[in-house]
Amino acid sequence: MSDCLFCKIIAGEIPSKKIYEDEDVFAFYDISPQAPIHFLVIPKKHIPHVMDLKNEDSILMGKMLFQAQKIAKELGLEPNGARFVFNCKESACQTVWHIHLHVLGGRDFGWPPG
Ligand code: AMP
Ligand code: ZN
Repeated sequence: MSDCLFCKIIAGEIPSKKIYEDEDVFAFYDISPQAPIHFLVIPKKHIPHVMDLKNEDSILMGKMLFQAQKIAKELGLEPNGARFVFNCKESACQTVWHIHLHVLGGRDFGWPPG
């Protein structure tokens, strides 16, 4: 999608601190980290938010989550763990409307999230 920030990052039109890329998935560090480690995992396919997912996106979402946990381990987030978050639409303060999985780690998190 031409006016989407994350589509531009995937295309290399906007620079990012890339961690991982394959034919379906792209991962990069968040520009405004909320934890010592904070990265985003996104599909290359432009999907605005979680509520837009179709049955055909199931495998893609699985690939995203698999890569997210793999990167988390590579960055040292085992054995303590991490927080894996999708913000969806206005109520969850989604600001970039291209699905992204936040992975935050390196500190403890409270629950409920507030
Ligand atoms: P959300 O509020 O869930 O939509 O999260 C969007 C995330 O994208 C925020 O954590 C931002 O800090 C992050 N972000 C915005 N612009 C960039 C960028 N150019 N590079 C990396 N992360 C970004
Ligand atoms: Zn996009």
